[in-house]
Amino acid sequence: GSTIGILGGGQLGRMLSVAASRLGYRCHIYEPGAAPAGDVAYKVTTAPYEDEASLRAFAASVDVITYEFENVPTSALDLLESLKPIRPNRRALAISQDRISEKSFLNDLGLQTAPWAAVNSEADLKAAADSLGLPAILKTTRLGYDGKGQVKLDDAAAIPAAWAAMNGAACILEGFVAFDREVSVIAARSLDGSVACFDPGENVHRDGILRTTTVPAHLTPAQRSDAILLAARILNALDYVGVMGVELFVTPRGLLVNEIAPRVHNSGHWTQAGCTVDQFEQHIRAVAGLPLGDGNRYADVVMENLIGDDVLRVPELLKARDTAVHLYGKGAPRPGRKMGHVNRITRG
Ligand code: ATP
Ligand code: MG
Ligand code: MG
Repeated sequence: GSTIGILGGGQLGRMLSVAASRLGYRCHIYEPGAAPAGDVAYKVTTAPYEDEASLRAFAASVDVITYEFENVPTSALDLLESLKPIRPNRRALAISQDRISEKSFLNDLGLQTAPWAAVNSEADLKAAADSLGLPAILKTTRLGYDGKGQVKLDDAAAIPAAWAAMNGAACILEGFVAFDREVSVIAARSLDGSVACFDPGENVHRDGILRTTTVPAHLTPAQRSDAILLAARILNALDYVGVMGVELFVTPRGLLVNEIAPRVHNSGHWTQAGCTVDQFEQHIRAVAGLPLGDGNRYADVVMENLIGDDVLRVPELLKARDTAVHLYGKGAPRPGRKMGHVNRITRG
């Protein structure tokens, strides 16, 4: 069989490896740190992304390279790309790595986002707050996840402290969107350009971290088709191959794109219980050049993340009806750490 290389060995890599093995593929994980995916993958390379020899050996052992982690250094990607195909492609990764290039790309496609301005100094921040108005959210352009690297600005007095908290990092100020709800579309595109989207899920965050995803989302039929069509537009524009998570704000003025993630997405975990082919298999199919599978939703599902000490509820959850427990093998719980998730069928 062929071997799929995965950059990043977290829980997403772990679940990708399981899906790949069901289709007869082996996975080789490349991960500088601790790798929950290592327990289930065929092979793991534990080496820094700067280690050229390890990168070459990794590329030599795989047929195609994908990733579950977006911040792989450019130098590593340049080398890997010269050796084996990387799917999704570099452009999709580069755009989503930087909130300013991401928003510019989306706006150029004719899609709405929060109003935004680039911020590289306290003076920029003052000017941006004046023009966008407050409240607003200051975010580092790069490396943020789970709400890290973000500060909400409620009034102008908070500007100096907010800027200081960013340690001089390049930032973006986003107008605060008074959304009705948050939804996401998990979309897939195959090598031959077909697109399939999972039914949008409705997301609830707490402390910047995804708490639950519920399907079906509360959307009108028009909003549902808008969401799917705009996701397809994004994947086609990028000549994308693989699964992407598209996070949306639902507002009275239509759908705004919050951000895109060029990989399987936490808000797509419900597909493991609600669809014949889940997001992980869909991604493997796409990057391996297989046709996309049937991702129609046949159940209503609530996905709940097990964050930190939530994992102490596992003994009870294992006994609960209609509930599938997924654990990532991460060891000791820490606050804010994603330890696992549960998918509960609410109507089949
Ligand atoms: P992720 O873990 O999804 O990558 P992240 O750290 O990249 O998260 P965002 O998705 O930008 O962060 O923001 C996290 C959450 O904060 C959003 O899902 C939303 O609830 C809220 N949020 C972010 N930007 C805005 C905005 N401009 N207006 C209102 N709420 C926002
Ligand atoms: Mg993000
Ligand atoms: Mg997000």
